[in-house]
Amino acid sequence: MGHGGLRRLALPGGLLAGILLLALITPWLPLPDPVRQDIAGRLAAPAAAHWLGQDEYGRDVLSRILWGARVSLSVAFAASLLAAVAGTLLGILGGYFRGVVELLTVRVAEVVLCFPPLLLALLVVTLLGPGATTLILSLAILFAPGFARVAYAETLSARALDYVTAQQALGARSGRILIRTLLPNIAPPLIVQFSLTIAAALLLESGLSFLGLGVVPPSPSWGLMIRGARATMEQAPLLLLWPCLALSGVVLVLNLFCDRLRDVLDPRGRTQGRPGFLRRIAALPTPASPASAVPGLLAVEGLTVALPGPAGAPLVRDVGFTLAPGETLAIVGESGSGKTMTALAIMGLLPGELRVVSGRILLTDDDGRARDLLRLPEQALRRLRGNDLAMVFQDPSASLNPLLRVGVQVAESLHAHGATEDVQARVVALLREVGLPDPERAARAYPHELSGGQRQRVMIAAAVANQPRLLLADEPTTALDVTVQAQILALLAALKRAGGAMGMVFVTHNLAVVAEIADRLVVMYAGEVVEEGPVTEVFAAPRHPYTAALMASMPEGEAERLSAIPGAVPQPWAMPAGCRFAPRCDFAIEACRTAPPALVAPAPGRRTRCLRWKELA
Ligand code: SF4
Repeated sequence: MGHGGLRRLALPGGLLAGILLLALITPWLPLPDPVRQDIAGRLAAPAAAHWLGQDEYGRDVLSRILWGARVSLSVAFAASLLAAVAGTLLGILGGYFRGVVELLTVRVAEVVLCFPPLLLALLVVTLLGPGATTLILSLAILFAPGFARVAYAETLSARALDYVTAQQALGARSGRILIRTLLPNIAPPLIVQFSLTIAAALLLESGLSFLGLGVVPPSPSWGLMIRGARATMEQAPLLLLWPCLALSGVVLVLNLFCDRLRDVLDPRGRTQGRPGFLRRIAALPTPASPASAVPGLLAVEGLTVALPGPAGAPLVRDVGFTLAPGETLAIVGESGSGKTMTALAIMGLLPGELRVVSGRILLTDDDGRARDLLRLPEQALRRLRGNDLAMVFQDPSASLNPLLRVGVQVAESLHAHGATEDVQARVVALLREVGLPDPERAARAYPHELSGGQRQRVMIAAAVANQPRLLLADEPTTALDVTVQAQILALLAALKRAGGAMGMVFVTHNLAVVAEIADRLVVMYAGEVVEEGPVTEVFAAPRHPYTAALMASMPEGEAERLSAIPGAVPQPWAMPAGCRFAPRCDFAIEACRTAPPALVAPAPGRRTRCLRWKELA
């Protein structure tokens, strides 16, 4: 927390501390007994001996306000804390695990919300009898569903964020993700909810005490004081004013404090992110020589991913390719081609609604044993993620948890796989390895203090921390400017050279990038593989009109987005009956529109899904 944040908290924090301190030291203050009656002084106006006057029984009002603060505040704080812990636990579990857990947590909590609050409180009081403990329990039951709803909604949106997926890709356990990633990120709205709940609990405590369902007289509480003052408000209106002022003053201070605390806790709000800086242009790597397409590390066979439901349209259909150790394979295509979906299926991180309908994803381990990732239990897959398999995502800004220092996040990938010793030193070494200029300082920085390129270097450091055998990179340079793109490509190429047998699947829409980094490429269109082959051969002689169109859309020497091809990729539920590229293809003939073309091999190591590939030669 910086000095600016402390300054912003000083006023409401000081006021709140003052209120709490006053309530705490009340027993030692020279005040009259709050329950001692003095009938002669009944409804007496403020005077030197009784600064705020005396109530309907002649009791000192100031003394009762301060003693009442102890009761009201402790009931409100205790009830809110209990509600916050229970409600947050229910919400976060339901939002993260969904399914049956969601039913047993959030939905059950929502049933409680259906009861009118006073009726529920009355039920609890009837069962347990009136008193402060009963009041705390009633209020906690009333307010816990509110926390559950906030935690549930925030968890749902946070779990879809890239940095949660990135943590899963690193193989982090669910418990760690919940506590270290999700909880800090959903904390700000929960803090606000806490402030509102204390305020509401204070009011409800007063209301219940007012109705005789809360604190038992003659113990002082603000609610009981308002109840007593109401009966005599015409003779002594000030008696109503004091407890109301105390109540609204504390509620205001609490709201202000929690508002400021929320701002201060979120490091994104503390400083403006430093503008990205251009580093020295790194020399582009020499295009790697094509490696042979010997299956060895990864084999994807007949992979089909579909939307839910028996008639769910396939987003990826019958996709297959292989990757040899040390090889870089680029998967190329426009948005909607299914390339990212294929990479996520390999990681076992498909978005919840999507499912793999058929196929195999075989990863060969060091002993030469191939395991089908699609049939591994989740726990076994989680052990592989971040260890044997790692992934770098498109947007480094979204992939890093904004609330944790980057060193902690890189360390997370080491901790997730059992590292306990020298973790900090290894983090700094990794950050140095990925080219961060001052790795010790970078480790202490928050993501918003780094440039886009630096953030992507951090993500790469986390991905390669456990020396994976397969690295998936999903458009890792798309969100970066051209110069930084070149540096990141150079870094990935250098890491791969250093990694020896590490294979890389590089997902991109940019053929210029393919030329720089890949040995072979797979071109995908509308969820299908349409062409495959060594990069040099495909570039020299494409065997599919779509590949040729992609190449034509890329002016010499300059990277260009692929959307330059006229038309759009068809939607999964509206695929053409024949060749999926036919509506955009200059070579289309009637035969192309009647039946889908099969993949054929025009040469060893080459495949194309085009009826007219010979005419393209
Ligand atoms: S099969 Fe026909 S429509 Fe499809 S890419 Fe080849 S020529 Fe074009």
